[in-house]
Amino acid sequence: MSDNNETTKPRHFIQQYIDADIASGKNEGKVATRFPPEPNGYLHIGHAKSICLNFGVADEFKGTCNLRFDDTNPGKEKEEFVASIQEDVKWLGFDWQDRLFYASDYFEQLHDFAVELIKAGKAYVCDLNADEVRSYRGTLQDAGKNSPYRDRSVEENLELFEKMRAGSFPDGEKVLRAKIDMASANMNMRDPTLYRIRHGVIHHQTGEEWCIYPMYDYTHPISDALEGITHSLCTLEFEDHRPLYDWVLDNINIGCHPQQIEFSRLNLQYTIVSKRKLTQLVENNHVSGWDDPRMPTIAGLRRRGFTPASIRDFCDRIGVTKVDNSIEMGVLENCIREDLNEVAPRRMAVLNPLKVVIENYPEDKIEQLEAPNHPQKEEMGTRTIPFSREIYIDRDDFREEANKKYKRLVLGKEVRLRNSYVIKAEDVIKDDRGETIEVRCSYDTETLNKNPADGRKVKGVIHWVSAAHAVEAEIRLYDRLFDHANPEAATKEGKEFTDFINPESLETLTLCYLETNLENAEAGQRFQFEREGYFCRDSENSSNGKPVFNRTVTLRDTWDKSGKN
Ligand code: ATP
Ligand code: MG
Repeated sequence: MSDNNETTKPRHFIQQYIDADIASGKNEGKVATRFPPEPNGYLHIGHAKSICLNFGVADEFKGTCNLRFDDTNPGKEKEEFVASIQEDVKWLGFDWQDRLFYASDYFEQLHDFAVELIKAGKAYVCDLNADEVRSYRGTLQDAGKNSPYRDRSVEENLELFEKMRAGSFPDGEKVLRAKIDMASANMNMRDPTLYRIRHGVIHHQTGEEWCIYPMYDYTHPISDALEGITHSLCTLEFEDHRPLYDWVLDNINIGCHPQQIEFSRLNLQYTIVSKRKLTQLVENNHVSGWDDPRMPTIAGLRRRGFTPASIRDFCDRIGVTKVDNSIEMGVLENCIREDLNEVAPRRMAVLNPLKVVIENYPEDKIEQLEAPNHPQKEEMGTRTIPFSREIYIDRDDFREEANKKYKRLVLGKEVRLRNSYVIKAEDVIKDDRGETIEVRCSYDTETLNKNPADGRKVKGVIHWVSAAHAVEAEIRLYDRLFDHANPEAATKEGKEFTDFINPESLETLTLCYLETNLENAEAGQRFQFEREGYFCRDSENSSNGKPVFNRTVTLRDTWDKSGKN
């Protein structure tokens, strides 16, 4: 994914770090990274940052990037997540080639390294229960206390560890711990757990082969080293775990010691980037699924109409630093808007239909008008759109009276129909309740895509579709998923993040009229509906069989001005 302006862009601290490693000849100039998701949910936009970074630097330095599932927690993991993660990484445009790994591939080796630690007197089997372990650990102010089991003999530890593996003990009865330092200022170094017992779970890769599972902090450095990773990039919360990462590799014979480097997580305003919390949204039916177009998941963004290029561009723009920050949603939306402005064909769609009858247009006449697919890009070609006596326009595009600022259709005045003629509103038909149900118009036959011959000015242009040829569709408009810019922090105010779900995040328009040729739009196809925004055909139809289009984003950034999108 290298681009040409790489040389002009300032290099971020991880690139500089690698530059220095290459200059000093470290790792023989090789760069090997990995993206290590836990398959306990779908990937979100935060993961995209990590994916772009890991695959990006590998690509830039002509190195490799592995995809590795960190699957040491079988209770919460599923094959569905394994599959979705692969799909999403590929969709973003990255390729791990033949380097797809699972931490569970290394369970036997991880076990053997644990035996090595035990033999060296650096790990022991501990019988304290979870509460006791906690109270022995001490606090940030006070040193912990040594476990009474800390000085078991190597022989006893080996025997107990093998019995743990053989299934002789129930869950929680024993753990294997590293013997480091119960007085360390770093809590992670106070004899951390390396292995715990888990019976009765079926691991998606290893089935029921194991009843002991290695902890993340133990598994991760060893998996990195076994794969020959050079730079192990992770988020800032692991900074305090780095001494343990290094301790593990320094105390076994493994012959490779990757460098852990931390960067700040991506946080995005008005949404949430935590698989655990996103799981709650899905499981408690706050959204329709992981791919609900309101979700900040890759699957949700894809269904919403985002392009892979727009997400990569976003990750590029936000950069890589060590400073925690929260990015405005407008930044992400600008990326997709800019991309779709270039590539999305233009179409017309009427979201809130109002019928217009052109009285001086012959009843049986249909004209096939030609319209460009893109106003600036001739190479995108043209399409034909039928024009006839009865059309729909948007309700918002007609008023009986209006001031000069309103450049749309006003009773007694003229407006241009996009790609078509100038019409004039002659009369209004209302129902019993006084609501306008039809506008009667006339048209100027000499104005097809040209100005009136007498030089009179027609300022406004509105979109329309031919009533007899329109495709009926359901259109879904999305707003921010949360009312609070930082729903996670809001929990500090004694509330649940779900208390801030925006009840109006989805607006469904059940009867919209689209240009004829949108009938054949395929799932995932994106368009600009002129004057309305960018839209994407959904993969499913509405409950009454109509095609569904999701609004990806509005034409302009509306976040700041109105406070509502
Ligand atoms: P979550 O809390 O959403 O489950 P996680 O860090 O536990 O996130 P993993 O599956 O372990 O999820 O993450 C895989 C990789 O993606 C890790 O290297 C992690 O640091 C990175 N990552 C996760 N969330 C973010 C984020 N918001 N910004 C940048 N990188 C992230
Ligand atoms: Mg994790």
